Amino acid sequence: MNVITLLDGDLMTKRVVIITVLVLIVIIGIAIYAWSLYPQQVGKRVLRVGTSPDFPPFEYIDEKTGEVIGIDIDLIKALAKKLGCEVQIVQMDFDGLIPALLNKQIDVIASGMTITEERAQKVAFTIPYWRADQAILVRKDSPFAPRDLDDLVGKTVAVQSGTTAQFLLEDYINKTGNKINIKAYPSYVLAVQDLENGNVDAVLVDSPVASMFEKARNVKITGIVVTNENYGLAVRKEDRELLDKLNNALKEFLNSTEWQAILQKYLGG
Ligand code: GLN
Repeated sequence: MNVITLLDGDLMTKRVVIITVLVLIVIIGIAIYAWSLYPQQVGKRVLRVGTSPDFPPFEYIDEKTGEVIGIDIDLIKALAKKLGCEVQIVQMDFDGLIPALLNKQIDVIASGMTITEERAQKVAFTIPYWRADQAILVRKDSPFAPRDLDDLVGKTVAVQSGTTAQFLLEDYINKTGNKINIKAYPSYVLAVQDLENGNVDAVLVDSPVASMFEKARNVKITGIVVTNENYGLAVRKEDRELLDKLNNALKEFLNSTEWQAILQKYLGG
């Protein structure tokens, strides 16, 4: 009797030990498997970046490759790398960027977007990474030389739809009661093309971009309107973690030689 009970007890203990060991092996196995997946999943997280590539040197199409390139593109790629994310560039018209962000079609806007109070009610901006004013462009051979908004009264001025250039003109018209005919285009490339073709009298566009068009196209800058605009990247307001990470990465990056190299590459000099 005693012997049998002992044997039974032994068997039970053995079973318990074996089952415990098996369970442990399974748990450890699952843990190791999950751990091995983890870094890859983080690395593979895709940041969908919305941009309107008609805004050189910040974002434009490389004529040779058809790829979207520019300061904003290199900047967001560098920041994403720090965050362990991959970048997917999503092209759209400038005035579609904030709706696309709010609809979750994209995660970040990198498109030379000025930080404004109105926009900041809908989206969250990072710290600024660039400062700009507005510039007036006319055809190179034109005798018309507008230096400020007053000089544009009675004229047709082209802008990209939904930009601070458009808002500046609208505010001026509202405040002064003066008439300027605003023609809004889906892209600045089309606006400048129409200026070259003689269909509008001037283009109002951010100063660094005006300088690029002046170099590449049949247009010249005749005046600067000091607006002191700051560019920021934008994310959804609820994406606080992403905003914090981008801000930390951006703070560090703006002091780096890598940032200087990007500026050198697209602006020269
Ligand atoms: N900085 C201007 C704005 O935010 C223009 C931007 C753009 O056309 N890409 O409205």
